[in-house]
Amino acid sequence: MNNTAVLQPPRAETFGPRPFARWDANPSVRLGQLGAEPPMDDLVNQLHQTVHGFADRVMRPIGRDLDRLSAEQVIATGSQLWSFRDAYASLGINMEALASFPPELMPDIFAILFEELGWGDAGLAISAGVDLMPHYMAAKFGNEFVFKAYPEELIGCWGITEPDHGSDSLDANGAIFHAQGKYGRPNCVAKITDGKVIISGQKSAWVSNGPIAELAILYCAAETKDGVDPRRGAVVIVPLKSLGVSKGKPLEKMGQRALPQGEIFFDNVELDIDHLLVAPEDYKKGVYAIHSEANALMGGVFTGCARAAYEHAYAYAHERKQGGVPIIRHQDVAKRLFHMARKVELSRAITRRVTTFNMTNDMPALQAAMFSKVTATQHALEVASDAVQMFGGNGVTCEYPVEKLFRDARSSLIEDGCNEILAIKGGTLMIDPDRLTPTA
Ligand SMILES: Cc1cc2nc3c(=O)[nH]c(=O)nc-3n(C[C@H](O)[C@H](O)[C@H](O)COP(=O)(O)OP(=O)(O)OC[C@H]3O[C@@H](n4cnc5c(N)ncnc54)[C@H](O)[C@@H]3O)c2cc1C
Repeated sequence: MNNTAVLQPPRAETFGPRPFARWDANPSVRLGQLGAEPPMDDLVNQLHQTVHGFADRVMRPIGRDLDRLSAEQVIATGSQLWSFRDAYASLGINMEALASFPPELMPDIFAILFEELGWGDAGLAISAGVDLMPHYMAAKFGNEFVFKAYPEELIGCWGITEPDHGSDSLDANGAIFHAQGKYGRPNCVAKITDGKVIISGQKSAWVSNGPIAELAILYCAAETKDGVDPRRGAVVIVPLKSLGVSKGKPLEKMGQRALPQGEIFFDNVELDIDHLLVAPEDYKKGVYAIHSEANALMGGVFTGCARAAYEHAYAYAHERKQGGVPIIRHQDVAKRLFHMARKVELSRAITRRVTTFNMTNDMPALQAAMFSKVTATQHALEVASDAVQMFGGNGVTCEYPVEKLFRDARSSLIEDGCNEILAIKGGTLMIDPDRLTPTA
């Protein structure tokens, strides 16, 4: 190289805008609604605007009103839950519409859709999410029967938790099972005989949409000619108008009160074998598949819930004066907002990365979906708690929105798997057998 050569500075655009080109007295760059969002594809942007408007105009007021009602009132005829469902259906976000988007946009669409719905109301967002489950999983497993036999308009739910089996049910391969533990008796069994599936037993009161659902994707133990082995279960699509299905009372709970939940009972419910979506030999795959979708969905919804709490706190910090200045002028308040915004941004980033990886890889990484769920729900609780603190006394009254967001966020640490169980299970998925000595 010639020592006397003069190096040319690289083109400025390579590294982004020239420093200080827009410098002014207050050098602050406003972040957008979705934080430090890179330029977005037009189709994704349109969907974002539509769903955001819907979340603002429809979900927020309805979610707030339903939160004050009893669980029975939420599902009663004429309740606003049904107005929400009608309005959401009119947006046309169904499997067919989702399938019409270019596949490379799906990760962003999935994450942004559920973030916006979660921003509107977490309980209603989960209701919309589980609604899709029977058909979504049928599509994943390439099952055409479900699409031919049952219209997508039917209200869907996912039944896995049983009165005696919560964390156990999510651990189909027994990876977190206690050395001295026993699974014990399953509460719900699908007997698989020649040409039929016969279901007996019950699912617990935690089935989201349970009281209103018309079609379930049911995960339960399987009875075959080899007997009942709860670790080799079955996934069955169950129309809930079938003879022998009954429901319990809707559950009263803390947070996400717009989301109806309740038991489903099965008394020798007989279905054609076509309804068997996943057979016992593939049961572990079935649990893995739905869990990796559901955990990423939770990541999106609770990024939105955290963002809602942050935005309320941000606005309040500019309005509320103490000591003669808006409280955002107090350093501790500004610092708290900084950490809240940082956590929302982290939840969003991890959820987008995980949906992108899982939708483009030939097999989803369940532990990555768990990163997203655990991070976003933990952050949602912390951000909502900080928002309550920032509102002072007003934070704990029902007159302001943040106490509801705090309750909504609290349930999410248990929903779709307790976060500590997901971390233990996710940890076991990270063990690389190739790095272990044969005896370890
Ligand atoms: C808002 C909400 C929505 C839900 N939606 C649905 C739904 O749509 N469908 C559905 O089927 N279910 C649903 N669930 C149920 C949910 O998946 C379960 O509540 C969850 O898996 C935990 O089960 P559990 O409540 O029986 O708790 P348990 O499993 O009894 O756990 C109790 C405690 O023991 C700990 N523990 C248990 N086992 C272990 C272990 N091996 N090692 C260490 N600690 C352990 C847990 O971490 C927890 O702290 C929902 C729950 C909530 C709160």
